Amino acid sequence: MDHFLYRDGVLHAEDVPLTDIAAEIGTPFYIYSTATLTRHYGLFTEALEGMPHLVCYALKANSNQAVIKTLGDLGAGMDVVSGGEYARAKAAGVPGDRIVFSGVGKTRAEMEQVLAGGIRQVNVESEPEMELLSRVATDMGVTVPVTVRINPDVDARTHEKIATGKAENKFGIPISRASEVYAMAARLPGLDVVGIDVHIGSQLTDLAPYEAAYEKVADLTRTLRAEGHSIRRLDLGGGLGIPYTRTNEAPPLPLDYGAMVKRVLGGLDVEVEIEPGRLIAGNAGLLVASVIYVKSGEGRDFLILDAAMNDLIRPAMYGAWHDIVPVIEPAPGSEQQPYDIVGPVCESGDTFAKQRQMPRISAGDLVAFRSAGAYGAVMSSEYNSRPLIPEALVKGDQFAVIRPRPSYEDLINRDRVPSWL
Ligand SMILES: *Cc1c(COP(=O)(O)O)cnc(C)c1O
Repeated sequence: MDHFLYRDGVLHAEDVPLTDIAAEIGTPFYIYSTATLTRHYGLFTEALEGMPHLVCYALKANSNQAVIKTLGDLGAGMDVVSGGEYARAKAAGVPGDRIVFSGVGKTRAEMEQVLAGGIRQVNVESEPEMELLSRVATDMGVTVPVTVRINPDVDARTHEKIATGKAENKFGIPISRASEVYAMAARLPGLDVVGIDVHIGSQLTDLAPYEAAYEKVADLTRTLRAEGHSIRRLDLGGGLGIPYTRTNEAPPLPLDYGAMVKRVLGGLDVEVEIEPGRLIAGNAGLLVASVIYVKSGEGRDFLILDAAMNDLIRPAMYGAWHDIVPVIEPAPGSEQQPYDIVGPVCESGDTFAKQRQMPRISAGDLVAFRSAGAYGAVMSSEYNSRPLIPEALVKGDQFAVIRPRPSYEDLINRDRVPSWL
């Protein structure tokens, strides 16, 4: 469920008509709903009730300061994968002891940054990383809580670009070598081994791969404890999928996910962390665009929008589907026709949808892409010198721009022309 509904014939974000926002800030833009973000975070905390837990929002899904602050103020922890994300979380007021640091390629500078600023734990992904972290921590005279990310070799059955838990993926250490790596961690100074980390992929639409991975984590917990390690925290990753269409998809609910976590891991006397990104932010955002032209091609009609692949790359990158709906509600039973929906960028890959059934659309109409709150704005670029589009946040009947549209001067003034040129 989200908070983008037709009211009086106009698609609203909570209590604000999208036509009002478009009139004020121009198109294209991203719009997020506070109520939806809040609701989705709450679904996870409810799902894990009865078990010590921290929901760490994976802020790579949507890292706008206002979004981070909305969730951080509710008590959410944060999962960050870079020094930039760590700085964003801190700037939004999230304390270091609610931030976990993930990622396969942490640099020395990033380690120094999080150890100085405070960190709940570092999820270590390899032996060389562990050795470096130990050196950095001892140089700084601190001890850092760590987990080791294990690769459970399970098939998440999701898009190949976002599967991370198979042996051939670059993530984590093979579970078969866990004992060896934990023994090494225990020997190294400056590290406090607190638990195990696992994250098998994104947009998972089935609980079975999770359950298979968590069973392995439960077994490993017992093994490592028997080997003398104090395993007290399990980071279970993120990845729960969302419905991108209204019709034929029913990914597992957070409540069912939580029930499975409690069933598989509840008896271990551990604290759990989860790292949802997409499920919290995905359906909390829309991308709103205008139709520039309706162009008749050879046997097909094109809707040419003012939004493009640089603003929302998921269709070009993952072949992803987004529901695209008119902002003005079509009359009930109005006739549908197929359109190819494209942007103005000079690449044929700049195609959002092919032969998509839509009610009749005219130039100047507004359309909204649903489920665009995660991996939308954060993956955008200024390709074709198209300035990043604004983001706005709605709460009830108020809205605010949370990232303004840069001017062409802003764009150009970031470059430097050498004095000798
Ligand atoms: C991407 C990622 C997540 C979030 O994945 P979602 O599919 O957005 O829930 C969580 N943890 C790690 C380590 C990740 O890389």
